[in-house]
Amino acid sequence: MPNTQYSDAEIAAALEACAREPVHIPGAIQPMGCLVSLDAAMERVRQVSANIEVFLGIGVTDALAGEAREVLGDELMDLLGTELVKQDSSASVLTAQREVWGERRRFHVVAYHSGDAVVVELEHLMCPDRHRLLDKVNDWLVEVNQIDAADTLLDALTRRVQELTGDERVMVYRFDEKWNGRVIAETCLPQAESFLDHYFPASDIPAQVRRLYDMNRVRSIPDASAPAVPLVPPSGPGEAAPLDMSRGVLRAVAPIHQEYLTNMGVGASLSMAMHEEGRLWGLLACHGLEPRPLEADLRDALCALAQIAMGRLMLLRTRADTHLLHGIHDSNEILSDERGRLLGPDGLIQRHGAEWLELLDAEGIALVTGKESCGLGTLPAEENLVAMADWLSRHQGPDTPWHTQALARTPLAIWQEGNLCGLFAVALPTESSHWLMLFRREQRHSRRWAGKSEDTPMLRDGQLVMTPRRSFAQWQEEVKGRSRAWRAIERRAAGDLAKSLAVLTSTHEIAQLNERLHHANCKLKSLAYSDSLTGTWNRYRMEKAIDAELNAAERHDRPFAVLLFDIDHFKHFNDTHGHETGDQVLVTLCRVLQNILRPTDNLGRWGGEEFIVLASDCDLVGGLHLAERLRQSTEEPDLGNLGGVTISIGVATWYPGDSRKTLVARADQAMYRAKEGGRNQVETEASSIIPPSP
Ligand code: GH3
Ligand code: MG
Ligand code: MG
Repeated sequence: MPNTQYSDAEIAAALEACAREPVHIPGAIQPMGCLVSLDAAMERVRQVSANIEVFLGIGVTDALAGEAREVLGDELMDLLGTELVKQDSSASVLTAQREVWGERRRFHVVAYHSGDAVVVELEHLMCPDRHRLLDKVNDWLVEVNQIDAADTLLDALTRRVQELTGDERVMVYRFDEKWNGRVIAETCLPQAESFLDHYFPASDIPAQVRRLYDMNRVRSIPDASAPAVPLVPPSGPGEAAPLDMSRGVLRAVAPIHQEYLTNMGVGASLSMAMHEEGRLWGLLACHGLEPRPLEADLRDALCALAQIAMGRLMLLRTRADTHLLHGIHDSNEILSDERGRLLGPDGLIQRHGAEWLELLDAEGIALVTGKESCGLGTLPAEENLVAMADWLSRHQGPDTPWHTQALARTPLAIWQEGNLCGLFAVALPTESSHWLMLFRREQRHSRRWAGKSEDTPMLRDGQLVMTPRRSFAQWQEEVKGRSRAWRAIERRAAGDLAKSLAVLTSTHEIAQLNERLHHANCKLKSLAYSDSLTGTWNRYRMEKAIDAELNAAERHDRPFAVLLFDIDHFKHFNDTHGHETGDQVLVTLCRVLQNILRPTDNLGRWGGEEFIVLASDCDLVGGLHLAERLRQSTEEPDLGNLGGVTISIGVATWYPGDSRKTLVARADQAMYRAKEGGRNQVETEASSIIPPSP
């Protein structure tokens, strides 16, 4: 429920005021250490914390009047001279000894530049056993390298840290894209309330606090309720700006945050920033129910543990991402089916779709090409897919993929079906009206919020201010109508998939076009070479074949024969039965004769009712026999039914020096003699007449 007491504008203004809270210049420190601010030359003391005497045995007035060396001691001053890192970088961490009231004390020192001041923060070094911490860090290095799952890694991190600090609750708190936080791993002792899986509103860690984490990874608050120790003088000598303590560890806790921790029941808090590629990714947060001292060395060791975990986490993430991208690319390498035929878009999706759906964690995949679509898995009906693609083509540039977790809240809502509410759509780079679409189903879940953020605004002195919420009692928000978000790497992989599909479909289209072209060419060829009525070779083709035979015969001295035949009295046949029946006779005659011929013999129409048989590897005797078989076959019953056509055949064989013309002329003469001799007979160029068989 939105807050009804205050307007949105009032709440926004209060939030903004909260975001301006100057947390980095509180003018005070926490009491776990003391602070000395020096001038740029590191000679004069400009400011000290009011508790300086407890740590360095020198009073505030004396410290401010004295020289830096007197206050901090020679050892530390020498160290600062050599170790203090440059302006604008993070703080230097040092250890130094100093005699205080006759005893040597060891200090953990954090020193940094702030404006034109050098700030030195000192804490008592309480943990002499540095080896124990180093061992712990080393153990963690070994353990981390054996962990291959992110959640196991983060669980182990919270467990390790809890063992070291003894805190009642150690959590990994991860930011979402709106800076809400969620506890994704936790080790929690029974006396503390678990916050695992709880969401915290973004306002809990406002922008300026997040910025501090970018600069300074650690925030340590050993006692959330301890009164702050002021700096003296409050803002440095003269008109100096308040001291910026962003880089230090002692910075006093803002009252609003103190209140927040108290309301949460936290006595001590330690948070360490976890960054991913320079962006604040999350926090490792330790809560002690009671205040307790936190050794500076332990703090540094914990920081190392968190950094190591983050390094491993990034490695695991990169591994998973690479697996995803490789998975998409590998499956694209198999482009053809078992018979080596190139797969079309449909074939590709049928073959690899299941794999893609699994890799991209989607329910359905569709490729919409104009008015058609193909796909796999759970999908909206084709007309809805087509309508969505059409809308995308008209409203979305082809270069930018489109995605949503909640289709119902987009202009595509009218075409949404069932619980498919996540959509990633990308146009194929080759064809802007073709869309690859991936659908995800609704992922209903409830978010457990730690307290309601609308409890927060309150009137203070007549002004609406953000106060830390008093209640951390859980409440549940039901998240409906949303799918899992499309991660950047998933979007990239799906984009790669679209590119591959575009190439593959284009390749397939080109292959199909080539095939069609090839068929058309074959058809043209056969048209150019064959006789349209009988299907036998036409004259042109026969001439070519005779020429080729002549060449082969010259080269290999291999004889061949030409049988020229003509239908007898065909004019009369046409006149009697009609031209169409005549055509039929030509067709039937050719079919019958083709059956008699060897595969190496060829039949062609020479013109009208005149045909040639070209018989390879055949001498005169062979030619005569073949001619006689052909002649006799015309007396077969099915031709006989058509009126008993007969043929007259002239046979000629090759002689060296023959041309096509001379050879065919001799066959023609022989055929002419067969006609003259009474038709239905075979004649050779040698004029030996073979009489028709009885
Ligand atoms: P001959 O025995 O001397 O060869 O007598 P013929 O009647 O067959 O000879 P002619 O040269 O006088 O006539 C040839 C006939 O063949 C005339 C023509 O109509 C016919 N003819 C030629 N081509 C075709 C065709 O494609 N279809 C039909 N139906 N008839 C054809
Ligand atoms: Mg004829
Ligand atoms: Mg003729």
